Amino acid sequence: MMRHAVPRGLAIAGLMLLVGVAMADPAPAAETAWSRQTTPAPGAARVIGGYTEGCIAGAVALPLDGPGYTVLRPQRLRYFGHPSLIAVIRDLGARADAEGWGTLLVGDLSQPRGGPMSYGHASHEAGLDADIWLRLLPPGQRLSPAERRDPTPVSMVRAGATAADRDRWSPTHGALIRAAARDPRVARLFVNPAIKATLCDAFPPDRAGNARWLRKVRPWYGHDSHVHLRLHCPTDSPACVPQDPPPPGAGCEPAGFAWWYERIAARLAEQARQAVPAAAPVARPPQSVPPACAALVPAR
Ligand SMILES: [Zn+2]
Repeated sequence: MMRHAVPRGLAIAGLMLLVGVAMADPAPAAETAWSRQTTPAPGAARVIGGYTEGCIAGAVALPLDGPGYTVLRPQRLRYFGHPSLIAVIRDLGARADAEGWGTLLVGDLSQPRGGPMSYGHASHEAGLDADIWLRLLPPGQRLSPAERRDPTPVSMVRAGATAADRDRWSPTHGALIRAAARDPRVARLFVNPAIKATLCDAFPPDRAGNARWLRKVRPWYGHDSHVHLRLHCPTDSPACVPQDPPPPGAGCEPAGFAWWYERIAARLAEQARQAVPAAAPVARPPQSVPPACAALVPAR
């Protein structure tokens, strides 16, 4: 079980949160003291707590445009992170640029001081998580300002499929995910199980060191239009709470996929039974952060 997993009782709400990631900004949800922050907390970079219950001082803004990448929905002010996260994204963009993969569309990182968001994520709290879209802009193309504010995600997985959609998935996607997973600063990448299955086919785990990076690519609900990239706790942050390493092995065994497809089918059935509209925004429940985080948010 992943340490950052949501409690069982929140499973359905959690799914809705994951669905919500890909949506346009929903109706204003309850703000949190953290979502009201517009500037990083001063001082050297320092992560406190973990990916799902944490905060960050000394966060850095990812420049909104750089070689090989562009930041989506800048109006959300969720493009802040630990300097290592900013460097990883800039390096990945530079690689995309050099390889001719196109321009990476960068979704949410963290808020200026991290902490819980009012909607959209169960993690991204510590300046160590980022969403990279699988929709790639062809080299030289740019988004209009309107589309950048409210971009359209492209799913790589048809409902119920056990492999990525051949009409949309390309070897470039595999190369991009492999490049990210090989980065020693990256602890994990979350992708839809059907995407992981496609990677296991394209990069046999018994060949050329593939198992080492495939091990970091973890199947998870949703994540069919973006990959979620998560860094290790940085060495400058002794109060950062790491996640257990992924289980040994590449994670390409058929039984593992069967387990996931069953769980996904069960969730879809549960959603249909409750007649919950898939796109309904769900405000996240209030969540605690480590006591040391309180110093980063001025009392109002
Ligand atoms: Zn994410």
